[in-house]
Amino acid sequence: MTAAMLEPPAQHPELPVLLEEPEYDLSHLAPNITRPLALAVDIDDVIHPWYALAHKACVAANLGKARSVMPTSWTMHEAYEVPLDEWVKVINEATLGGDLYTAPPLPNVGYWLDLLREVGHEVHFVTARGLHQGEGVIGDLRDIIRKKTVDYVFENDLAHDSLTFLKDKRRFLADIYVDDGVHNIKALSEAGRVAYLVDAPHNQRFDYAPRVPSFAAFAKMIVEAT
Ligand SMILES: [Mg+2]
Repeated sequence: MTAAMLEPPAQHPELPVLLEEPEYDLSHLAPNITRPLALAVDIDDVIHPWYALAHKACVAANLGKARSVMPTSWTMHEAYEVPLDEWVKVINEATLGGDLYTAPPLPNVGYWLDLLREVGHEVHFVTARGLHQGEGVIGDLRDIIRKKTVDYVFENDLAHDSLTFLKDKRRFLADIYVDDGVHNIKALSEAGRVAYLVDAPHNQRFDYAPRVPSFAAFAKMIVEAT
């Protein structure tokens, strides 16, 4: 195990925190904006570093090989070489008593949400949080996770127009979607929606455009195109 192996990927600046976003030129990806846009913004791994926090919790719990590997898929327990239920137990503990849903948003998220709304766009948080019941993950904590999500949005002063808990994001009609989930991006783009994929460890193998390095970079692109 080397120190480098414990570093989180650059696109997850939770450990350590990046205070400054690098400059990205995404102008070639910018949409043609002719009116204020309704933006559907995913929460986990778009504005909140869920994946990095989950990994941090597994490292703290010394779960399997968590201290020597950085997982790159949604099946984190496979990288740690532990059964799913052991991973779920750590995640549930991080949900109830840890900081999985209470740690601060990614850097500069509040600033960019304010700016998006100041230039006239609508921000709609659309998240599948707490809706994975029956899939062996965070099974019984649905209501707690929803409550923590509402608290998180208000305690962090995250400017928004609505907050929706929804698994099939196509059911929420927006002009542009921003999400890290490959399944969401696939469904949205197949339905003819404009969807931007935010870089995350678990979507690196998915060949898709438009891809943005972070929510901040996405927001900057939208503000500059407005
Ligand atoms: Mg997400």
